Amino acid sequence: MTLRGRLTAAFLAVVLGPVLLGAFFVGSTVVAADRSRAAERLAVAAAAVRTSVDALCQQLRAAADAVALAGDRAVAATQVVSRGLASAVLVTDVTGRVTHATPAAPPAPWRDCSAATTPAGPVGALSVRVDLRDRAGAALGTVTAAQPVDTAFVARLAAVTGVAITLLDGAGAPVRLRHSTESTGVRDAVLAAAGTLDGERVTGTADGRYVRRVGPSVGQPLPLVLSVPSDRPPGLYVALTTAVLLAALLAVAAAGRLAGVTTRPLMELAGAVDRVARGDLTARVPVRSRDEIGRLAGAFNRMTRETGTYVAALTSSRDQLRGHLAVLGDTLASTHDRQRILRVILHSAIAATGARAGAVLLVDPGGALVAQCTEGLDGPGPADERPGPHRVPLGNGAVGAVAVTGEPRRGRVEPGEVAPGEPPCRTYVAVPFAAPASADGPEPSARWDGTEGTAVGALGVLALYDRLGGDEFDDDDLITLRTFAGHAAVAVDNVRVHEEAQRLSLTDPLTGLWNYRYLRESIRREVERASRFGRMLSVLALDLDRFKAVNDTHGHTAGDTVLAEFARRVRGEIREVDLAFRQGGEEFVLLLPETDARGAAIVAERLGAAIRDTPITVDAHGASLPVRVTVSIGIAVYPDHAGTGQEVLDAADDALYAAKDGGRDTWRVATAPQAAPPAQEIPVPAGAVSPSDGLPRAGAHRRPSPPRPAPADQADADATPVVPGSPFPAPGGGASSGPHPPRQSRGR
Ligand code: GH3
Ligand code: MG
Ligand code: MG
Repeated sequence: MTLRGRLTAAFLAVVLGPVLLGAFFVGSTVVAADRSRAAERLAVAAAAVRTSVDALCQQLRAAADAVALAGDRAVAATQVVSRGLASAVLVTDVTGRVTHATPAAPPAPWRDCSAATTPAGPVGALSVRVDLRDRAGAALGTVTAAQPVDTAFVARLAAVTGVAITLLDGAGAPVRLRHSTESTGVRDAVLAAAGTLDGERVTGTADGRYVRRVGPSVGQPLPLVLSVPSDRPPGLYVALTTAVLLAALLAVAAAGRLAGVTTRPLMELAGAVDRVARGDLTARVPVRSRDEIGRLAGAFNRMTRETGTYVAALTSSRDQLRGHLAVLGDTLASTHDRQRILRVILHSAIAATGARAGAVLLVDPGGALVAQCTEGLDGPGPADERPGPHRVPLGNGAVGAVAVTGEPRRGRVEPGEVAPGEPPCRTYVAVPFAAPASADGPEPSARWDGTEGTAVGALGVLALYDRLGGDEFDDDDLITLRTFAGHAAVAVDNVRVHEEAQRLSLTDPLTGLWNYRYLRESIRREVERASRFGRMLSVLALDLDRFKAVNDTHGHTAGDTVLAEFARRVRGEIREVDLAFRQGGEEFVLLLPETDARGAAIVAERLGAAIRDTPITVDAHGASLPVRVTVSIGIAVYPDHAGTGQEVLDAADDALYAAKDGGRDTWRVATAPQAAPPAQEIPVPAGAVSPSDGLPRAGAHRRPSPPRPAPADQADADATPVVPGSPFPAPGGGASSGPHPPRQSRGR
């Protein structure tokens, strides 16, 4: 049953109950009062009947007495009748013979008023009989005075008593009508009711009359039925029923309306709740009143409005987060650009916490935190004069403390308490920027440059400043940021590992020089650069002399030591911008950007001296032994000797062969390719000292000695010390003319 149905039923019960009870009470009260009044009227009428009958009997007695006392009884009888004291007078003698009778005698049977018994038969007239006696008292006869009991008598009686009177045709059952003042239509009902009565009981008839019997009894020998109509207002029951029905109809209508009014807001509320349940947070209910339901509706509207706002904020925040995550994911997944990753990490952290500014600082080899990336800290002036942090010593301020302890921090900074190197701010949060330790390995390198950390457990620190809105950063921010920094640090550490791997993949582990792979890439790049800017590039091919003998004599390990020391000395002899490669075995290549043949020859000379002059100490045969090694060097210059990286390498290689052919421990410059004969070497004697002008001098060769050094101006003039048709024969033949040992034999 619906709430509306229940309310309607309850209202009907509350309203109709009293109406029905009232109607019943009114009906029964009216009926009882009517019956009581009727019974009272009938009692009064019964008394009046007795009195009237008694008075008639007294009158008949008086008439009979008057006739009995008269001298001439016939005359007296006539007078009595004529005066209306009796209808008939009958005189009998002692034997019962009628001696005189008035003419009109009432119909028999006559009922004597003074009879001690009440026979059940019909009554034709009331009579009184008196005895005639002489003076001695002897019976002479009787005088009877009679009055007929007819319709007129009954009508008079009814007029006297004020009720309808019916004379029965005898007192026994079944009752039969003799005379009645009742209207013809109701006589049967009256007779039927009378048949059920005895004594002084009152009963009602179906048509609303009250009936009572009176007599026959001693002193009132007539079998009479008194009846009165009901005083009840006609149509009482109809009126009551109509009233009840009307009340019921009104109650139903009122209940329906009331239930509707009461339940309508609830139905609206239920409908709105359904809509909210289906996800429609725009659902609202009208507030029609200030009662409880109105307050409920108001509270519901407020709740949905706030929930909608909250959901909108969440959705927008989620969308933002998705955007940040997408950027972050893409960045972390697809790039090994450390700066870009740091920028995205910082931006995401700032967006996630609503900070105004932030910085990512990484620990540098000098043991300080150095800002790698900042946001919101821009200011006028040079970069290092803008608000920090730029470089914070470990342990200094909040950021330095976080880096040392590895514990995150948050707090408020009072004006004037800003630590040196930190930006002016009111609130801050700083978390260690460290990748979590892996299960099967040590902590990630503590420092960015790959050197092992000491007490420092973090790659760096992620610091955010001034939460927008003025609130302090809370513990949730701190936990979120710490987790985020942990994941981000993994990505940054991956970049470090990647860079390290890349570096290792391009370097030779024994010597630490760049490897052949990087040589290929570098020669291409450097040739291109030289070509674009119209510069020269010198390529030096180096090969240790008779290195096999070193291995054979002192062992492979000693050979490795020699190679490593050789590389170290090579690095020490070249500029920062020069590149040194181990091509393979005991063969090396140097790239000297923006260097012509003369400069390259100087370097070659210097290198030869650096190797030759100081023996290399190796551990062999249980002792430290000095090993003397020398190096042969071939020089080629782009663009003088070749037009591509590979060609210039080959030219340097050919020059190296020439140097070998020239007796080793020397250097040679390639010949220009278009020249015929193809090339001539400029022999430089091993151990030759560069002239004071720093330019190599061709011909200073040990075996065989060149005729004379190459003139400096000639070397300058064509950017190569070797020109076609040079007067200085290459010792042992030029790079192109001398016997070429197979390249494979040189370890390639
Ligand atoms: P030259 O160049 O003067 O003609 O004589 P060489 O003895 O140096 O010539 P060759 O190229 O035949 O020998 C090179 C030797 O270098 C062969 C090999 O034993 C040695 N070698 C190559 N790579 C390594 C290395 O990585 N470590 C050591 N210890 N030796 C190496
Ligand atoms: Mg060699
Ligand atoms: Mg070799």
